[in-house]
Amino acid sequence: MPSTQPPRDCPLCPRLVAFREEAQRLHPDWYNNPVPYWGDPDARLIIIGLAPGLKGANRTGRPFTGDYAGDLLYATLRKMGLATGEYSQSPDDGLELKNTLIANAVACVPPENKPTNDEQKTCRQFLIKRLAEQQPKAYLALGRIAHDSLLVSLGEKRSAHPFGHGAEHELGGGVRLFDSYHCSRYNTNTGVLTTAMFEDVVGRAATFVGSK
Ligand code: SF4
Repeated sequence: MPSTQPPRDCPLCPRLVAFREEAQRLHPDWYNNPVPYWGDPDARLIIIGLAPGLKGANRTGRPFTGDYAGDLLYATLRKMGLATGEYSQSPDDGLELKNTLIANAVACVPPENKPTNDEQKTCRQFLIKRLAEQQPKAYLALGRIAHDSLLVSLGEKRSAHPFGHGAEHELGGGVRLFDSYHCSRYNTNTGVLTTAMFEDVVGRAATFVGSK
C-alpha cells in the first residue's frame, strides 16, 4: 500500500530522478526532492497544481514558493481568507494556509515543466491515497493537466468534466471541482489569466468551503 506522501528518495520515475540528481549536483543548497503537500491538515479545499517549478518549489521545498506563480496564488489566498501572514517567497516567512491544502499532480520537478503521462500515472498513487484520507469538500485545479490528473485520481470520467477556466464540476459525494488557468507568469503576462479572473474563481471556491 503506497504512502500518502512519496519518500524523499523516491526512485519510481527514472527521468525525474536523473533531473533531481543533476539539480542536487548543480545546486546542493536547494531542496531538490519530491515536494510534500503543504497546508491545513484538515483542509476542505485542496488546490492541485502540476509539478514543482525548478527555481520555485524545487528550490525552496514548499509548493508555489520562490517563483512568480506563488506571488499571485498566495496574495489571492490571503485576500479570500484562505491564508494568513506574510508571503515572502520563503518557507520560513510565517505564511499559514487556512482550510486549504496544496498538492501537485507530480511531486518532482520535471524538465521544462512537462511531466510525461507515465510520470503522472506513477505519482498518482500517492495523491489517490491522500485524497481518500483527506475527503475534501472542494478542489481547485490549476490548469488542464492538473484537472485531468485529479479526475483520473478520483475515478471520474474526464469526458464528463471538460476543463474550462471558471468552470465548476459536481463530482461524487457533493464535492465540487473549480477550474482555473494556471497562475504562471506566462499566463498572466500574456493576459490569459488576469488577477480579477483568478480572484473570481478562488473566491467562489472559498465561499463554497465556508471560508469567505
Ligand atoms: S514524480 Fe512522484 S513517483 Fe515519480 S519519482 Fe517523483 S515522487 Fe516518485
